[in-house]
Amino acid sequence: MICLACKNKNFKLVLIKRNLTLVKCMKCDLVQVEGLENRFDLKHYEYYKDRIALHKNELYSDITESRYISLLKKLEKYRESNRLLDIGCGEGHFISVANKMKWQAMGIEKAPYAAQICKKLDIDVICDDLSAINISSDYYDIITMFEVLEHLTQPREYLLKARDILRKNGILALTTPNFNCITRKLLNINWSWIHEEHLSYFTPKTLFWLLKECKFKIVNFDIKHITLPELAKVFSVTKKTNNIYKRNQEIREMLESNIFLGRMKSYANKFLNVTRLGEVIECVCEKI
Ligand SMILES: [Zn+2]
Repeated sequence: MICLACKNKNFKLVLIKRNLTLVKCMKCDLVQVEGLENRFDLKHYEYYKDRIALHKNELYSDITESRYISLLKKLEKYRESNRLLDIGCGEGHFISVANKMKWQAMGIEKAPYAAQICKKLDIDVICDDLSAINISSDYYDIITMFEVLEHLTQPREYLLKARDILRKNGILALTTPNFNCITRKLLNINWSWIHEEHLSYFTPKTLFWLLKECKFKIVNFDIKHITLPELAKVFSVTKKTNNIYKRNQEIREMLESNIFLGRMKSYANKFLNVTRLGEVIECVCEKI
């Protein structure tokens, strides 16, 4: 077995959760699933099938939309060719927002049921693996990969391919869970993000290093957010992991609608960034 990031061959055991054994690279700290070469399985993505019949308003949330708008406003200065690609686009929400903001946006999605949702909503999507798609070099202004790296058996190769198809000074924006976040440290194997869909787990240090190794210049690198139902699990308020995303969505809506709570959330994110303990790494980097 070799490290997906630095190709080192020495690992140490981190944890075992049912049939998942996580090991950490002794050189770059990337945590990956042992024997992950054969682990990527589309059956883990069949939950999209139950969402095909949902209406657009049920699939896309207003809060997520406002975050996407805010990101795209920050990236406006990089608009040249007007071309944007969302890798691992899921149900196509980001592409839908980008289209509204006059980007010529398209997506790549490996999960057939997710791609089916995109097509139903007139989102331009290719259902395939990035490596199988023929795209010209230096083509896109912006490439996004939200919560994608952790699903891959070849994260380094995806970053290199993204770099190739970006134009010079084009932007890659991505998010991935932070394996060194406070809830993972406290919950360990009960941390909800450890499950079969996720094959590689980044720390801020590993991701920062890998992006530089792939010849990206870091423009923004933030570590933020705590999923409050996860925090509740730490204090044994609830052991339930069902509907954690739905419950978190409800809490997000409450925080965004209350000025005082919103301000508290902003302070909390500053603290999580400084301490590197937040659950999500958000990064914007430029092709150099
Ligand atoms: Zn490594």
